[in-house]
Amino acid sequence: MWHCIVDVNSKLSIKIIVSGGFTIVDFTVPTRDSPVVHPCAEAPICEECRAADLCFFDPTCSSCQDVLSNPKTTISQLFAIMRQWIPQTQGHLTLLTREVLRRGAHVNDKDGLTDLSLLHFASKAGAVGIGNGTTAANLVNTLLNKGASTDLKCHWTDMNALHYAVFFDCAEVVELLCEHNPVLLTTISSQFDGGNSLHIAAASLSLASAKTLLKYKADAGFADATGLLPHEVIPQVSSNSDKLIAKELRDCLHEASLSRPPIKTVRRSESPSAHSLSSTGTRGSRGSPASNKPTLSVTPTSNLKGVNDSKSSTINRFFCFHYMNG
Ligand SMILES: [Zn+2]
Repeated sequence: MWHCIVDVNSKLSIKIIVSGGFTIVDFTVPTRDSPVVHPCAEAPICEECRAADLCFFDPTCSSCQDVLSNPKTTISQLFAIMRQWIPQTQGHLTLLTREVLRRGAHVNDKDGLTDLSLLHFASKAGAVGIGNGTTAANLVNTLLNKGASTDLKCHWTDMNALHYAVFFDCAEVVELLCEHNPVLLTTISSQFDGGNSLHIAAASLSLASAKTLLKYKADAGFADATGLLPHEVIPQVSSNSDKLIAKELRDCLHEASLSRPPIKTVRRSESPSAHSLSSTGTRGSRGSPASNKPTLSVTPTSNLKGVNDSKSSTINRFFCFHYMNG
């Protein structure tokens, strides 16, 4: 085995490792000083997967791994892979994030299509039935240690990383973000009628996240722009399992609303993005961002095992919003 270090234009460090007849190219691009939004691109796929008529990138396929390690694969293409809402990609988000960063990305770079940052992607990667909460929390922790901003919002949804973690009920990520920046507890989203994270938890039936938010003294007595408290925006549900979740959620939110904590949500002027969402028809009803989107058709329900019906439906709609725009 031998190593060879090559510098190209003093910017790209390439290490070629030859071992047992295989050649592996390793490289690292110095980190950019400021964040950028990357243009849209399609997700790459290896020839073998393409020939097999597979439509998603498979990080466990050796040929797809070659695509990942190829310096010609761009950050835009990696973001396109991260948009694919399937366990194979969401379960390998740590690997994908590492590939983005070693191509010189700033930790706050965004995907041009979804307007999501690396922290946004990581915060929803632990969604039940899709990813693993602990793995997602570890990735979020890594990004926070690298200086990822928790203030960034997606322009399309007016949601920050905490909002996404709550929507997808990644309680471990919610805990981490609340611990890292308690101010997040007071942030609101126009996508949920100016509601706070508890409104998002209620509308999404995110019981574990709601309990975590209450542990950190989130304001259950805060009314959204329509005058509703979090426990009043819990949707009507039909299945027995959802009814149990809704009841427990309503009980704990209602009880918390009767004794408002010291941390109070402050209403601010509505984000300009709220107008753009409405005017472009991408704003959905409460609890279902982008449910008005006309192009929702790809729904990988087989990948949502373990998710209750209404929850999986909500997540599917959200997934479709991101995927169909890809
Ligand atoms: Zn492949």
